[in-house]
Amino acid sequence: MRQIAVLGSTGSIGTQTLDVVSRNRDRIRIAALAAGSNIALLEKQIRAFRPALAAVWSEENAKLLRERISDCPCRVVSGMDGLLEVSTFPDADLVVTAIVGMIGIRPTIAAIKVGKDIALANKETLVTAGHIIMPLAAGHHVSILPVDSEHSAIFQCLHGENRRELRKILLTASGGPFRGKTREFLETVQVEDALRHPNWAMGKKITIDSSTMVNKGLEVIEARWLFDVDFDRIQVVVQPQSIIHSMVEWDDGAVMAQLGTPDMRLPIQYALFYPERLPLDGERLDFAALSGLTFEQPDLCTFPALALAYEAGRTGGSMPTVFNAANEQAVALFLERKIKYLDIAKLIEYCMGRHSVLPDPSVEQILETEQWTGMCIRSYLTESR
Ligand code: NDP
Repeated sequence: MRQIAVLGSTGSIGTQTLDVVSRNRDRIRIAALAAGSNIALLEKQIRAFRPALAAVWSEENAKLLRERISDCPCRVVSGMDGLLEVSTFPDADLVVTAIVGMIGIRPTIAAIKVGKDIALANKETLVTAGHIIMPLAAGHHVSILPVDSEHSAIFQCLHGENRRELRKILLTASGGPFRGKTREFLETVQVEDALRHPNWAMGKKITIDSSTMVNKGLEVIEARWLFDVDFDRIQVVVQPQSIIHSMVEWDDGAVMAQLGTPDMRLPIQYALFYPERLPLDGERLDFAALSGLTFEQPDLCTFPALALAYEAGRTGGSMPTVFNAANEQAVALFLERKIKYLDIAKLIEYCMGRHSVLPDPSVEQILETEQWTGMCIRSYLTESR
């Protein structure tokens, strides 16, 4: 029986992970869960999946949860120590990192150090600390299994193949809700408009990231680390129907793709049971009903964040952290309606332009760079008032 810990169990990826688990109870069980603040849902999950350990962020919520589940044999912990305890919980052999943002770095590293395989959804961790995580995982013989649909597609295409013959990664993008729009149009975009993704239902942060194409930029950097390819060999292709989840091109010119309906349970299940492919019900691709598959170049003028991501990735060191941290903080400000939509990319560019790169940052330096980026954003906001 496989046992797993899920960080971010109450979110979009977390709940879909539990859905996959509930359909395969004879094969897999939940050992530990961690969430932020949604204790009502976490309580339901604890009752349904009976983990031995659960974590929430604040001690106040932990106390409330302890009272609510006093009849369950589940210990409740809190804060970063709690997250670390869940990610290193001895019973689990795999950790699903479905938490959002750079807060995932330390639990992911801790899990690898005690030999847990990682089903990685939390791309911000790999973007900022890929240079630490990938060698650490190799050293501990730990697998990093991608959950992101694009990276899972690439991973599936590479399965059983000789990676040395890989020429190029073709990372597909839906283009988001504002594909084909002008910068003038984007001037007036409101939170509700940006939260309306045409093909995928996801958490708020990644939905905004998809609309700005920051998400694709993060995925480019994520692909660089997961598949050990340089940035010149990662090409973004807009494929608006989100049917082709990504492709690889081989040295002989052959292109292989993974296709399917947009359903995150497939990449989640593939990561949980890799290398096995288990049955999964749900909508199937109906080629007779498909009106067409179309392809476009990404529009880097309207969506400059994608070009900034390539720049941050190529610069390396602490620059991807600045790209990511500036975006995390800008998206939070946009969701609070404190900045305009186009300010997100402007803030990223402003912070990147002022940063003195640290070539090989440690975890502490990555977290310090995150703090520095916060100060940089505050000075931008003061200047622009
Ligand atoms: P959601 O916003 O839906 O969920 C985030 C989860 O993280 C929630 O369970 C939340 O808990 C938890 N969380 C937030 N802060 C903390 C904290 N301090 N301590 C513990 N848990 C915390 O995000 P998504 O599921 O959409 O995305 C999660 C990650 O997966 C992101 O990195 C995203 O980029 C990536 N991803 C998501 C995809 C998707 O389809 N959604 C696709 C590919 C990648 P709570 O709600 O209880 O506060």
